[in-house]
Amino acid sequence: MNEMQLKIKACSENELFARNTVAAFALPLNPSLAQLSDIKTAVSEAVTNCIVHGYAGGEGWITVACRIEGEKFVITVSDEGKGIADLQEALTPFYTSLPGQERSGMGFTIMQTFMTTFSVDSVPGKGTTVTMSKDFGEKAESDAG
Ligand code: ATP
Ligand code: MG
Repeated sequence: MNEMQLKIKACSENELFARNTVAAFALPLNPSLAQLSDIKTAVSEAVTNCIVHGYAGGEGWITVACRIEGEKFVITVSDEGKGIADLQEALTPFYTSLPGQERSGMGFTIMQTFMTTFSVDSVPGKGTTVTMSKDFGEKAESDAG
C-alpha cells in the first residue's frame, strides 16, 4: 500500500495544485484519461468546498490524503472549518447555502457520480471530511476513455 498526505492553505491556487498532485499520485494505477479527469474533478469540488464553505474564504488548512489499496484509490479531503449542520440537506442535488454566488449545489453530486464510493463526515464547528474512492479493478465500470 502506498500513501501520501498534502497539507495546504485554503486558497484557490492550491485547488489546482491538489488536483494535479492527486492525479500524479494515481498514475501507478494506470488510469485512463477519463478516470484521471474524474479524480481531478472530484478533488477539485471537495477542495473548493473547504475553501468556499468550510473557511468561507478565510484562512485555514486543508488536508488531502490518498492511498492506493490494491486496485482501489482512496482520497480524503478534510477541513477544520465550520462543518455542516444538516448533511442530508447538503447532499441534496442543487442545494446550496450560497445561492446567487455562481454555486449550483452540484459539488457533492458530482463527487458521488464520478467516484465509486463517497461519504461525508461533518461536525458543526469542528470541520468536514469527504472520503471517496475509485476502483481500478476488473470489476470497475467500463470506461471508454
Ligand atoms: P457547487 O459545488 O455546485 O459550486 P455548492 O458548493 O453549494 O455548489 P455542494 O458542493 O454540493 O454545492 O455542497 C452543498 C452544500 O454543502 C454547500 O452549499 C454547503 O452548505 C455545504 N458544504 C459542502 N462542503 C462543505 C464544507 N467543507 N464545509 C462546510 N459546508 C460545506
Ligand atoms: Mg461545492
